[in-house]
Amino acid sequence: MPATVIPVPQPVLLDVEGVAERFPVRRVYCVGRNYADHAIEMGGDPSREPPFLFQKNPDNLFHGDTFPYPPLSSNVHFEAELVVALSGGGTDIAVEDALSTVYGYAVGIDFTRRDLQDIAKKMSRPWAAAKAFEKSAPVSAILPAGRIGHPQAGAIWLEVNGERRQDGNLNQMIWKLPEIIAELSKVFELAPGDVIMTGTPAGVGAVLRGDQVEAGIDGIGKLTLTVV
Ligand code: MN
Repeated sequence: MPATVIPVPQPVLLDVEGVAERFPVRRVYCVGRNYADHAIEMGGDPSREPPFLFQKNPDNLFHGDTFPYPPLSSNVHFEAELVVALSGGGTDIAVEDALSTVYGYAVGIDFTRRDLQDIAKKMSRPWAAAKAFEKSAPVSAILPAGRIGHPQAGAIWLEVNGERRQDGNLNQMIWKLPEIIAELSKVFELAPGDVIMTGTPAGVGAVLRGDQVEAGIDGIGKLTLTVV
């Protein structure tokens, strides 16, 4: 390792269920409006508007049981999502080869400063402030595909204070995972360590300090957080 003028930043490492070795994160890609009913609730038209991409920062991902309510917002929304961790990559990956790049799966929440996102949309500005803030992406430990396969269906849900707010199914995705990976690899060179958040079903809403948030995907995992 060559000498550096400042300390080398710590890599972001995610837990892998059942093993001591961890998963190092390189980049975080997110898919917008990938469930028809959520596209409609956000004012879109899922038949005419294809899903699109944005990014979070690698160190926005974290394991923990608290979510710190972020500054500069009074309307922070939850979005429960399937999180995909890649062990392969490349460009122009064929749909039929795409799943071979997947290491494993987790459940995550794409927390969003919705008020800042609404302003960004109105002013045709990027979403970074709305999406890529500190602790904006809690995730569960990764389950290796080698153990669970590649889930194409399964309930994806989120509860606030015990009340079910999101209740979708992975089989409702507009772009299926192999298509997401293929499309992403046309735009960016994918590599081991990349993480994809695949979009959220309908029912997104605001959290308040003190709320208990629980999100899960059947067969993949569960996440429990207190908003502080
Ligand atoms: Mn999202």
